[in-house]
Amino acid sequence: MKVNTLTSHQQEKYFSNLVQELHKDYSKYKVTQIQTRRFEINDYHRILDSLLEEGKEIFNVKKIGSSFKGRDIKLIKFGEGKIKILMWSQMHGDESTASLALLDLINLLKKRKDLSDELKSKISLFIIPILNPDGASEFERRNYQEIDINRDALRLQTPEGRILKKVRDEIQPDFTFNLHDQYANNSVGRTGSPAAIALLSPAYDYDRNINEVRERAIKVCVEIKDIIEKFYPSVVARYDDEFEPRAFGDNFQKWGSSTILIESGGYFNDFEKQEIRKMNFLALAGSIYSIANQLYQKKSTDAYFEIPENQRLFFDLLVKNVTVKKDSIEYIVDIGINYSEKYDSLRGKYIKVYTITDIGDLSTFYGFDTLDAKNLKFEFGEVYEEILNEFKQIENLDLKFLIQNGYTTIIYQGNFDKIKEDSLLDEMISTTKSPIRESKKLLGHSANFILKDENGKVHYAVINGRVYEPNKIH
Ligand SMILES: [Zn+2]
Repeated sequence: MKVNTLTSHQQEKYFSNLVQELHKDYSKYKVTQIQTRRFEINDYHRILDSLLEEGKEIFNVKKIGSSFKGRDIKLIKFGEGKIKILMWSQMHGDESTASLALLDLINLLKKRKDLSDELKSKISLFIIPILNPDGASEFERRNYQEIDINRDALRLQTPEGRILKKVRDEIQPDFTFNLHDQYANNSVGRTGSPAAIALLSPAYDYDRNINEVRERAIKVCVEIKDIIEKFYPSVVARYDDEFEPRAFGDNFQKWGSSTILIESGGYFNDFEKQEIRKMNFLALAGSIYSIANQLYQKKSTDAYFEIPENQRLFFDLLVKNVTVKKDSIEYIVDIGINYSEKYDSLRGKYIKVYTITDIGDLSTFYGFDTLDAKNLKFEFGEVYEEILNEFKQIENLDLKFLIQNGYTTIIYQGNFDKIKEDSLLDEMISTTKSPIRESKKLLGHSANFILKDENGKVHYAVINGRVYEPNKIH
């Protein structure tokens, strides 16, 4: 049976099966050479170029300009259909999730001939992967001029912004997809679920009116939510729709292209955002199919406004009901802990450094991990007195004994070859002497502390934001 001759009911059934298949068979389409948020931009382009070369019958590629530092920016075109769709990723250089999902989408179109045959007569899909290659090469938000490209839609002082504007003006797309990452600590309203994906059909004026252009994007957002939540219940939030007159999405909406913003956030145990990459893949592949066949038109605008709002309510670790002491007076607080990434030159890589970012009544917040420390007392972890430089000095340390005696941190400035990544020893090691000088303020302190009962027995040690029970350490 030819897909083109299906009735609308059959088409929906076909679509539903397609989404199920894409989810089930994702590993067939995932481009596995890159599976980390940080990657070399040259590696990305090498992999992309080889995919495009293999799929040269269906893809057209051209250079459409250069970044401030002269890096190529490419436009990929697929299909000859009437409905025009433009997608771009990584206009913020440290927001790479969708760039990887675009590789998977290109791979899908290359591999699934039945699908690409159908789509290519209905849509023209234009993709700009990594709009901000200078920022991407440093894994920084802004471009080389230190300008946020997404606040440059009117002034157009960045070459990258000018390229995006020019492409839109020339193509006059019906739909545009603006692909970003947001903080991993956002939640889906007060549901207690992390906002792995936040969606927005941007406003085109301060009153946030809804015209036909914006409404089409709203319906596509609902389509995306329904696709993702088939497999990942309650992970989609609605992004704040305050009008930003300098942003591209808001202006594209104003200029007549229905615009969908997809923000990749956080998910459980998904630091490299590979699960969220898959959600992006499903969202993008599903959307283009839905747009090609106008299926999204059946979605309701109300369903969009029923999506819970994106709220910053997650901590990486939330320790509840812990007893702390100041000037010998005890009281109860919750402790919120988040990580940031920092380059560690001795380890030769980025590491996660966990810090106490809030204390007090945090009962309205959630944690990717939570620990109830009822009846337990907080004590700052001790730093092992000696600074160690040789592996043989640390390999035989009795970590369990150290933790039971209140130590959480070892300063080591030697070789890391034999230290297992993310092991307890690895987490205990600081390569800088700074912990010695840390103040005894909780806020801003590294997340290294122990939790004792009233008899002084250590129940838990929090070491660089991870929870350990001394009994379970061998
Ligand atoms: Zn962004």
